[in-house]
Amino acid sequence: MGKVAIVTGGSRGIGAEISRELARKGIQVIANYNKSEGCAKDIKSELEKESIDLDIFQADVSKRDDVKKLVGYAQEKYGKIDILVNNAGISEYKLFTDETDEDWNRVLNTNLYSAYAMSQEVVPGMVHNKSGCIINISSIWGLVGGSLEVLYSVSKAGLDGLTKALAKELGPSNIRVNSIAPGMIDTQMNANLSVQDLEHIKEEIPLGNIGKPKDIARCVNWLVEDEYTTGQIISINGGWVIT
Ligand code: NAP
Repeated sequence: MGKVAIVTGGSRGIGAEISRELARKGIQVIANYNKSEGCAKDIKSELEKESIDLDIFQADVSKRDDVKKLVGYAQEKYGKIDILVNNAGISEYKLFTDETDEDWNRVLNTNLYSAYAMSQEVVPGMVHNKSGCIINISSIWGLVGGSLEVLYSVSKAGLDGLTKALAKELGPSNIRVNSIAPGMIDTQMNANLSVQDLEHIKEEIPLGNIGKPKDIARCVNWLVEDEYTTGQIISINGGWVIT
């Protein structure tokens, strides 16, 4: 059996491109989706035309029971999980004083708890195999903070903390844990931005354009191949944020 990967939120946007990239290099991918069953089926059929198998599985990864079902399914069917990409996430654009506890729970559970729970379910198998690669998709806002995106920034900074601490704890078991912190990437997540907003942002980006999901998927591909990078936050942002 070759390598097996779970990509959370793997049927749309950045996650879909990560699923394609890994599946095309011969990895058995289980692309998780929550609400977008149609998108998951579309990408499965797209890859089927190239004679590539993509497994899809519905789970709300902000909930422990669903996380257990997803990981249990993958383990039972394929016997192991070599790669975990914690990509599922939601944005929240609100004045700090308007945020509610419900908002906190929704954003933090989807963006941060999901990665914590997924990693906790997957790590014992990786420790047993003395091999693993966990990639958390965080954000530049976790590095520098985003105005009107406090909860999102908190969740992504938390994800980077999880990355660093887990990398230290799991390094001796040959499990690498890294974050990719994208800048502005062209997906549905930014569909609320006007053409003027996007032009303004492009002017602030040294490389002069908005990123594509492929830019993130390529880095995932590289991290999967690599053997000596762990605990790092790799920001792919066209130079928009340089820390
Ligand atoms: P997107 O197009 O809105 O896709 C979000 C994905 O997350 C969807 O596949 C969605 O699945 C999944 N998801 C959301 N809640 C979920 C849940 N509870 N359980 C399982 N899956 C869930 O956004 P994107 O731009 O591809 O974002 C992917 C990741 O990159 C996110 O973590 C985001 O924060 C991060 N990021 C994006 C940008 C950007 O500019 N686009 C920048 C920095 C970081 P369903 O549709 O099936 O619900």
